[in-house]
Amino acid sequence: MRFRAFAALTAAATLVLTGQPGPAHAAPTPNVATGQPGPALAAPPKVPTAYGYGGAVATVDPTATAVGLDVLRRGGNAVDAAVAAAATLGVTEPFSAGIGGGGFLVFYDAAHRTVHTIDGREAGPATMTPTIFVDPADGQAYDFQEARISGMSVGVPGTLATWAAANRRWGTRSLGSLLRPATRVADQGFAVDATFQQQIADNAAAFGQFDATRALYLPGGAPPAVGSIQRNPDLAATYRLIARHGTDVFYRGPVGADVVRTVQHPPVSSHPAGTWAYPIRPGDLRMSDLAGYRVRHPAPTRSQYHGLTVYGMATPSSGGTAVGEALNILEPSDLGHLPLIQAEHRYLEASALAFADRNRYVGDGTPRSTLNTLLSDGFAQARACLIDPAHALAKPVAPAPLTASGCPGGVPGSPVEEGQSTTNLTVADRWGNVVEYTLTIEQTGGNAMVVPGRGFLLNNELTDFNFTPTQGSAPDPNLPGPGKRPRSSMSPTIVFDYGRPRLALGSPGGASIITTVLQVLVNRLDLGMSLPEAVAAPRGSQRNSPGIQAEPAYRAQFGTQLTGLGHTFGPDMPELGALTAIEFGPHGLLTAAAEPVRRGGGAAAVVVPRG
Ligand code: GLU
Repeated sequence: MRFRAFAALTAAATLVLTGQPGPAHAAPTPNVATGQPGPALAAPPKVPTAYGYGGAVATVDPTATAVGLDVLRRGGNAVDAAVAAAATLGVTEPFSAGIGGGGFLVFYDAAHRTVHTIDGREAGPATMTPTIFVDPADGQAYDFQEARISGMSVGVPGTLATWAAANRRWGTRSLGSLLRPATRVADQGFAVDATFQQQIADNAAAFGQFDATRALYLPGGAPPAVGSIQRNPDLAATYRLIARHGTDVFYRGPVGADVVRTVQHPPVSSHPAGTWAYPIRPGDLRMSDLAGYRVRHPAPTRSQYHGLTVYGMATPSSGGTAVGEALNILEPSDLGHLPLIQAEHRYLEASALAFADRNRYVGDGTPRSTLNTLLSDGFAQARACLIDPAHALAKPVAPAPLTASGCPGGVPGSPVEEGQSTTNLTVADRWGNVVEYTLTIEQTGGNAMVVPGRGFLLNNELTDFNFTPTQGSAPDPNLPGPGKRPRSSMSPTIVFDYGRPRLALGSPGGASIITTVLQVLVNRLDLGMSLPEAVAAPRGSQRNSPGIQAEPAYRAQFGTQLTGLGHTFGPDMPELGALTAIEFGPHGLLTAAAEPVRRGGGAAAVVVPRG
């Protein structure tokens, strides 16, 4: 039975990715009869763009995409495929995703023509105070890395609860069956690629402090070689336990107990590899925090852009309001009719203004009325009229009062930055359902602690709180508090045209998620690029800091002219984001797009390729 499933998965991937059936990329036969791990799964080739019908999947990883596609081909819906693909990312993208983390999912239910969300964000412990990240010894905020590699940074993971909630509400397969392909990948292993190796190398000092992390990711004291086979039998066993006994083994049972023990007593090695500059402090997460965790289902944010309706994620993510506000600011400019440099100028200014307001007003628990104000046309007008076509605004710009209309002054605010990495996936099925799902463990590598015996890394999501107040004398909406969820930038977004999905997209990248999603929307909807072009185009990100954060190619293309308008650039970023998207064309044509290059390139696939 398991062998048949595996063979079909490989065949499906081969068929879709090569355009014809055949053994060209067939994997070696796994030894499932003995129950022993067989040969590693051969990764399907990475194809960043696919065109076709009947359903589509785009993720950063070819194995996860193939797993999602197989679920669709066997009659599963978009939610089934998204859960199976996400569980696989927990194996193959463990430094960005997994059951030790959290995320946000936006779902379009085609039968009912409704949009739903799941807030599976990590929650702080009930005992968390606003000063958790302030060192009592000196009253100063901890260094970021000191806070990150600790028990203090770990929020109650929401990812498994997200999968269970999606599965319960909209799924058509058992959660256990959806964990099976990922379990198989964890058992049999997959080939290490350069991105996987580099992510370990970047974390080697932190990973070296914990035996369980070291055993898994620093075999022989160094990152695994590219092409070597990475297995994770502990994670396979954890998935099997969940499949057999349900999510209570995590939220009320032995897996949760191990999470809590790891947080309360960080398992620092008695003979660490290398030195770590900081003490590794415990946290106060308890079983009662895990047992009390619930996903939420906030109404999506909603805004209009040139006749399209844009749905996004509400608090505790700031993604929906920031993307929506920036689009509202840009709409009257009609970017498609401006010289390209003016379009870029306004895109950068609109995102700086939206970030100022997001930093001032948006956090867990922000009243819906405030979100609605931020998304109102009147508020956007007040912000848009600050944009001078000839001169960049001095950064940071101040947030506007919520009563803003016309061109008011405002009060000073300060820029806020966040973490670096995450992963995103986009799925559509033959019935027209769409899932846009961003999941994360916060930094690449999370808090560096693999839960001993369980095979997954813990998040450091609580470092997305502001460590100290950032808003001067005004209240900071993103300070820690009991049970509170840290503000996110994750921006799973679905755009509708007269009630039908037109485009779904999302990205990793910390706070630059917002600008990446915004920039790809602008590229596609205003600047005449195809979806693959919009995804591949160079990225720049202005988040209300003095300097634009830009990829070298963006700076090369626009730097001189933008500098002429008074913009300044911060240090180059090698890359921003790793977006995935699906576009819904006429007569059911789907364009599934992943990155051609960033993060080593992603993988898109469709159920029935265009002939
Ligand atoms: N923790 C970040 C957020 O929620 C995401 C991490 C990332 O993509 O780097 O916005």
